[in-house]
Amino acid sequence: MALAAELQSIYCDLHVHIGRTSEGQAVKISGSRDLTFAGIAREAAERKGIGLIGIIDSHSPGVLHDIHAALDSGEMALAAGGGIAYRGTTILLGTEIEIREPGRKECHVLAFMSDLTAMEDFSKWMSAHMRNVNLSSQRLYAPSRVLQDEITGRGGLLIPAHIFTPHKGLYGCAAERMAELFELDRIAAVELGLSADSEMAGYLSELDRYSFLTNSDAHSLGKIGREYNVIEMREPSFQELKLALQRNEGRRVSANFGLNPRLGKYHRTYCAGCGSIIDEAYATSERCPYCGSPKLVQGVLDRILHIADRPLPQVPAHRPPYHYQVPLEFIPGLGKRKLNLLLEAFGTEMNILHRAAEAELAAVAGAELAGLIVLARTGQLVLSSGGGGTYGKVIRT
Ligand SMILES: [Zn+2]
Ligand SMILES: [Zn+2]
Repeated sequence: MALAAELQSIYCDLHVHIGRTSEGQAVKISGSRDLTFAGIAREAAERKGIGLIGIIDSHSPGVLHDIHAALDSGEMALAAGGGIAYRGTTILLGTEIEIREPGRKECHVLAFMSDLTAMEDFSKWMSAHMRNVNLSSQRLYAPSRVLQDEITGRGGLLIPAHIFTPHKGLYGCAAERMAELFELDRIAAVELGLSADSEMAGYLSELDRYSFLTNSDAHSLGKIGREYNVIEMREPSFQELKLALQRNEGRRVSANFGLNPRLGKYHRTYCAGCGSIIDEAYATSERCPYCGSPKLVQGVLDRILHIADRPLPQVPAHRPPYHYQVPLEFIPGLGKRKLNLLLEAFGTEMNILHRAAEAELAAVAGAELAGLIVLARTGQLVLSSGGGGTYGKVIRT
């Protein structure tokens, strides 16, 4: 067993999409052009300070080709313990898959494979059960339990994605209990998604056993690290992550950093007819109290309360703290120019957010911005509610 002293705290964001291959072939249509395998690796290692980055869409044959090219050129190497090593950062090979069981809505899961060979083999299997394996988050035409067998049978990790979002989240729209889709013992962890936190998830007793992940689901370079985890590991690798999710040999997720759920796009129930966010008092009504439209989109909080099996949330003792943190991009007045100045001075966004003192920040970006960054660090910026696909806004106090 490793000594605690050998472990380090590593910033991890395990859900970042690929926009294009290096040859310009589309992978995630809504993803930005510079979101390539190499571009994400550089952004994570050099600007964000993320030590373990999960690149979703690693299954796409064009991306696999890019990975081989980076290995052949010597720019990247195979990481001991699984993953791809680039300048002190390890890239985890992942994919996001859409499943739809008969009579249910569709939902997304993440699968991570230990190494390139396993991902190539898994990609080949997926290609026989999907229309276009080149693209991101494609529908898999196979039962959820078969998918679970295919992932865990290859030594991979199955992690339901953004579980509470009304748009393709497992609890958000596809099921009220995990066992309706998967065997509970072979779920590695769950991803909370941008509109929920650990406390809200504590309304469901079946989640007590799982480690929670807070990831960005980034579709552009700037959004990498908008949510992230601190994980105690010996080094950033697939095998160490696996131990951490099991809370084994001292490895564990030691902190979740996420948006305040009120900033999330789907926090509250929203009327698609008039655009109003529906007050909690009307959460169970079937029509919008403002315009009478029946087109209500149930928000994350309202959905959790609807499927809860506890009257009040409970947080198990192993659960790490969940820190509300406003990402740098939400901070009023922090544009590209100021951010670049701060990056020049402090190296990475994680250094700006966690390590630089207020006086040091002020010397580079001015006292007002430094003050806002410190408030953002501690979750003290005031936010308005998000709902119906619009993010809540930071209100300058
Ligand atoms: Zn998704
Ligand atoms: Zn995604």
